[in-house]
Amino acid sequence: MRCYQLTAFGQPLAKHDQPAPEPVGTEVIVKVRGAGVCHSDVHIWEGHYDLGGGKKLSFAERIKFPLTPGHETAGEVFRIGPDAKDVKLGAKVLACSWIGCGDCEQCLAGDEHLCAKPRFLGVNCNGGYADLVTVPHPRYLVDIGDLDPVAAAPLVCSGLTTYSALKKFGAALQQSPVVIFGAGGLGLMSLGVLQMMKGHGAVVVEIDQRKREEALKAGAIAAIDPRAPNAAQMIRDATGRPVRLILDLVGSGETASLGIDLLEKGGKLIIVGLIGGETMLSVPMVPMKSITIQGSYVGSPTELRELVEMVKVSGLPAMPLDRRPLAAASSALDDLRQGKVVGRVVLVP
Ligand SMILES: [Zn+2]
Ligand SMILES: [Zn+2]
Repeated sequence: MRCYQLTAFGQPLAKHDQPAPEPVGTEVIVKVRGAGVCHSDVHIWEGHYDLGGGKKLSFAERIKFPLTPGHETAGEVFRIGPDAKDVKLGAKVLACSWIGCGDCEQCLAGDEHLCAKPRFLGVNCNGGYADLVTVPHPRYLVDIGDLDPVAAAPLVCSGLTTYSALKKFGAALQQSPVVIFGAGGLGLMSLGVLQMMKGHGAVVVEIDQRKREEALKAGAIAAIDPRAPNAAQMIRDATGRPVRLILDLVGSGETASLGIDLLEKGGKLIIVGLIGGETMLSVPMVPMKSITIQGSYVGSPTELRELVEMVKVSGLPAMPLDRRPLAAASSALDDLRQGKVVGRVVLVP
């Protein structure tokens, strides 16, 4: 099997040829049909997150080289370990990458994505930039039926992340438009997921003209350039009512500040993006406006199943897909880092 591995931060991925893994215990080997390239892969490649104020969160202690990135993997069940039950050879599946220790309070509650000892595929363990990926237990496989694995792969991260975040708005989603910061892979996916959830619509805020056009094509009510001198007023006008729901898929100091400024009484800002930075917060405004600032990180295996069930009924969210051969893994990361990708790159082995 081929795999494209990170052997040092900031270096091109290296192609390695390895023998196909033999599954032991409950392991299942999945033949990769599609591996999405996510912006988090760029952060992993760079080796850190920007915490703001010159501070960085390093991946150095979390990652063991060589690492095969790729946490948006879809494929077919290829080999089944002797103790793996309820799984069929050839079944089309997503590999849920959000795997925890299995023993802690969070894991036992089903929130493995919040485990303090993660075993995330493509982050802590080898992922999908390969011909084959090893999944530790069939409970992390989600059957996709007849869905195209290439188009379905991004559900594992961008789909799940936006679904789990939008769910946190609760019933307000059906009553009020969401202001969405960023129309990259996550932003375009969130528009499709919002439609599946019968949301009231979205006003997208994005600096890139091409991405604003894609957002409008994907059904946004309006797409606004935050660099316009009267951007905040344009956003308020486009929502046509007080801004109460904001989804920040960028996650920079600037977007967080804009979000906090825009929120009206009782509003909620959910931060998902990890671009980095910091913001000042006027503390009394938090209680006086009774606002909520909440983080959301990927989602649980159960939420991934919920999302896939919705997709089986509504169809996959329309999003530009850029299919590239597995051998293009390194250049795809480069393009994403430089902002050259519209929609989602999916590597096809
Ligand atoms: Zn991701
Ligand atoms: Zn755990």
